[in-house]
Amino acid sequence: MSATDATTQVSIEEFTNEAATWLADNAVPKTANDGRVAAWGEGEFSVAVFHALEHDHEQKLIDEIRSWVQRKSQCGYHAITWPEEYGGRGLTNAHARAYSRLERDYEIPGRHEAISVTMGLMAPTVRVFGTDEQKQRFIPAFLRTDEVCVQLFSEPGAGSDLAGLACRAVRDGDEWVINGQKVWTSGAQFADWGELIARSDVDAVKHKGMTAFIVPLQGDGIVIRQIKQMSGGVSFNEVFFNDFRVPDSARLGPQGEGWKVALTTLGFERDHSKDSGGGASRVGGSWKQVLETAIAMGVTDDPIMRQRLMQVYIHNTVEAYTNRRAADLAKGGAAGPEGSLGKLMWTEGMTLTSDVISQILGPKLIADTGEWGTWEWGEHVLGAPGYRIAGGSDEIQRNILGERVLGLPGEPRVDKGVAWKDVPR
Ligand SMILES: Cc1cc2nc3c(=O)[nH]c(=O)nc-3n(C[C@H](O)[C@H](O)[C@H](O)COP(=O)(O)OP(=O)(O)OC[C@H]3O[C@@H](n4cnc5c(N)ncnc54)[C@H](O)[C@@H]3O)c2cc1C
Repeated sequence: MSATDATTQVSIEEFTNEAATWLADNAVPKTANDGRVAAWGEGEFSVAVFHALEHDHEQKLIDEIRSWVQRKSQCGYHAITWPEEYGGRGLTNAHARAYSRLERDYEIPGRHEAISVTMGLMAPTVRVFGTDEQKQRFIPAFLRTDEVCVQLFSEPGAGSDLAGLACRAVRDGDEWVINGQKVWTSGAQFADWGELIARSDVDAVKHKGMTAFIVPLQGDGIVIRQIKQMSGGVSFNEVFFNDFRVPDSARLGPQGEGWKVALTTLGFERDHSKDSGGGASRVGGSWKQVLETAIAMGVTDDPIMRQRLMQVYIHNTVEAYTNRRAADLAKGGAAGPEGSLGKLMWTEGMTLTSDVISQILGPKLIADTGEWGTWEWGEHVLGAPGYRIAGGSDEIQRNILGERVLGLPGEPRVDKGVAWKDVPR
């Protein structure tokens, strides 16, 4: 059944009623207090942007999320806008938003970047570039999170200038031999697969000589080393390839078209048009949590604080409308360069939230007084800057908007037209 067929058959109202019944039968509602969703002081309070968990706890969190996604998959709620052939419902973004609004009122496992990457970046990239066999093999498994796939893009010498990457892929008969290093690979220690972008032709200009692969993250010739962060967590890894062999069937997209594949994945990463609500709805630190904290700290009569709170509310609301508009423009695919606007608004919103919450909490942010819902905000304040870098830094998003949306003159590019092997590095 096509998306149109399914849409004509299930109205938002019918769908909402069905999903509400399913959630009531399958999840525990958050406790209500004065009409607000969660009661202040009860249960877990998480506003973390990144997790600072011991390995086993992080694995447990991932397992809980996976088991919730798999449960939802029995009714296609894990992939509402995806076609039925991949286990989805073939419905619209409006249906997906309606479901998210309902789910917010239930106690469900938190989020983890490896899961969002697998479902939100990897499955759609395979859909665009995969062979029929790859689509059947990977898309349902990634959407159900049966298998986890992460992003093997950045290298010590290639971040913002990703197209300059040096990890080599050399064809040997029906196989490819991979040699080189990736870094900042989020969640590699929990993953089964990685989307690898590697240099397959050193004689071509840098954007033309890359090829993409979906590679297993185990086997002879691959070493994964975790990177401990100052915030206590271990989100990242270094991944080393040493004569690591993969069959040509692991290639994603045509040989030499790796840059297109990478840009498509990054487009999905920057695209916030699928966000269901305003503001930082994908990670901790929502408007609701800011407001609840302000109420609990007794600052809502302070005219300055009221103004600051309104700034957060307005930012989140405008962001939500911007995302909705981007979703309409994208018509189900990834947002184009306009997606950079959504990413910038998201990271600016997180920064604003961090600033306002720091003003509300003062010293309670840095000294653990044991008071519920206060010190935890430190995980937001310390984590938010990370997303100003991940998926392309703010500066790079502004370059994209300037050049590709506003049509401003491009940056000077000294390596234009030069074979990758001849670019000074
Ligand atoms: C939380 C997080 C998760 C990540 N997860 C992954 C992952 O899973 N997989 C992966 O492959 N990578 C991942 N990364 C890496 C990320 O993609 C890179 O850090 C990012 O692209 C920036 O590259 P860099 O760190 O090498 O910084 P650089 O490129 O060295 O940039 C340093 C500074 O220079 C500025 N700059 C660089 N070039 C320009 C320019 N042309 N114009 C203006 N300013 C410029 C940048 O904005 C930045 O402020 C992650 C990073 C973070 C923070």
